[in-house]
Amino acid sequence: MTFSVHGLAVSRGIAIGRAVLVASSRMDVAHYFIKPDEVEAEIARVRAGRDAVVEEIYRLQTSISRMGPKEAPTELAALLDVHLMLLQDEELVGGVKHWITDRLYNAEWALTTQLEIIARHFDEMEDAYLRERKADMEQICERVLRAMKGTQSPVLPAQSRPGRKGAQQDLLLDDTVDVPLVLIAHDLSPADMLQFKQSVFAGFITDVGGKTSHTAIVARSMDIPAVVGARTCSQLVRQDDWVIIDGDAGVVIVDPSPIILAEYGFKQRQGELERGRLQRLLHTPAITMDDEKIQLLANIEMPEDAHVALKAGALGVGLFRSEFLFMGRYGQLPDEEEQYLAYKKAVEGMEGLPVTIRTVDVGADKPLDESVHDDAHLNPALGLRAIRWSLAEPAMFLTQLRAILRAAAHGKVRLLIPMLAHASEIRQTLAHIERARAQLDRRGAVYGPVQLGAMIEIPAAALSLPLFLKYFDFLSIGTNDLIQYTLAIDRADESVAHLYDPMHPAVLRLVADTIAECRAQGKDVSVCGEMAGDVTLTRLLLGLGLRSFSMHPAQILAVKQEILRSDTSKLAVWAQRVRTAEDPALEMSNSHI
Ligand code: PEP
Ligand code: MG
Repeated sequence: MTFSVHGLAVSRGIAIGRAVLVASSRMDVAHYFIKPDEVEAEIARVRAGRDAVVEEIYRLQTSISRMGPKEAPTELAALLDVHLMLLQDEELVGGVKHWITDRLYNAEWALTTQLEIIARHFDEMEDAYLRERKADMEQICERVLRAMKGTQSPVLPAQSRPGRKGAQQDLLLDDTVDVPLVLIAHDLSPADMLQFKQSVFAGFITDVGGKTSHTAIVARSMDIPAVVGARTCSQLVRQDDWVIIDGDAGVVIVDPSPIILAEYGFKQRQGELERGRLQRLLHTPAITMDDEKIQLLANIEMPEDAHVALKAGALGVGLFRSEFLFMGRYGQLPDEEEQYLAYKKAVEGMEGLPVTIRTVDVGADKPLDESVHDDAHLNPALGLRAIRWSLAEPAMFLTQLRAILRAAAHGKVRLLIPMLAHASEIRQTLAHIERARAQLDRRGAVYGPVQLGAMIEIPAAALSLPLFLKYFDFLSIGTNDLIQYTLAIDRADESVAHLYDPMHPAVLRLVADTIAECRAQGKDVSVCGEMAGDVTLTRLLLGLGLRSFSMHPAQILAVKQEILRSDTSKLAVWAQRVRTAEDPALEMSNSHI
């Protein structure tokens, strides 16, 4: 039966495919595809895990048989029998084999997928006793997963966390997975999203998340349709259901009728045509009708993205979110050499164009690892994030600074510091940069000059511009956080997404003042938050005086098209009227320019 679910539109376009559900269980496991010739080995891994648990239970049974009823109640023996029975359960064993053999899921993914399905069956049972067996099933699966930890998949690189890296690069699209697949999960961490970046998925849906949550940002950077904040979608959809994602409207249609499928198939082709048409602007300079040159830069997450940025016509990288090199490393942060090679790769990839490397910004919705999720802190977004974390971890910070300075010997590098608010933080940061230079000098290492920039993403920073302009060569406005902190709206929380408003007069005032002040002082300023890539805001930002925009490479041509049609000499007065209106969004939609 067809039904639809509404969420937040975060990445444009239409995707049509079969659902792949990533288990939302407590078990944090790796998800990746294996190759057909690895099926046997993968099944053997699950079997070994299961056998180990069976052994464990036998041992327990033997030891409790020697105890009296006081130490080992009879219920315990009965429970162990139930666990043994569940381990042989045909639905579990057969299901796991199916996901590995027919879908090429890795063993852990297959096990948790099948557990999700069986758990639903238990939930539907009338008998309360049987319903409660769900917890037992979860327990034994957890034990099997634990037992499997010692038997790492042979397809994985040794230094990565089991299953997290590498394997997806050579996904095989045989006829078992040649149907487009859409990924549905309760939640996906930004690190998970990065793992899926090179995978086969045609679209993403998550139950939670806001428009500018980092998961949504990575989905946008992949330029594939995505809907977040779809509430209970992962519970309503079953494995293999046909699903349409309308990434423009934020709608998910499950089990669509042939008529609906045809309609969306048509829309999908229209979108592709439109993108094809935009390609004609690739080599056209971004110059307004009144001859203002506009700089269009790219936001990237990994060094390999530099190539995509260049292909999209970016004139440089305006934001390299270096934290993606640090996430999902499970305690093994990248050392100086690894970072240096990564930054150098991005710098060389841009072929002489500038690369703005932002120092690590972990915390809030970008935990280093899922296992150290910041839930322990009441307000992670207000906690030890970004530069605060770097200053609290000086050895890590110095390592990163040295790596960036060394990469600067290979091309134009701009060093960008996130989340600054205090003069003391600025002073400490500058002292660390000096220290990093001195350390390199002592080693006789080669390094290059960098321009120094600060993100303006805390209202306090936007209200202390003279301080920032005194110490920095350029500023970059991080509107995602600026909006979050100005309006006290968690950007990752879908329940308050309706209040997350780039057009709030207070936000516009902070953005406008920052641009104006920088221009008055002759300092470079750009916007690198999601506002920069939103074509509905291009004219407003131009009118407020912005001449440098940094966005996902996929958004560059659409923004360029807006720029080519704009006349900044007419936009300035209009933009001031919009930003000072009681309801700027209304004023903007009522006044045509
Ligand atoms: C921002 O806050 O606007 C920004 C660009 O940084 P991030 O989205 O990575 O927090
Ligand atoms: Mg930010």
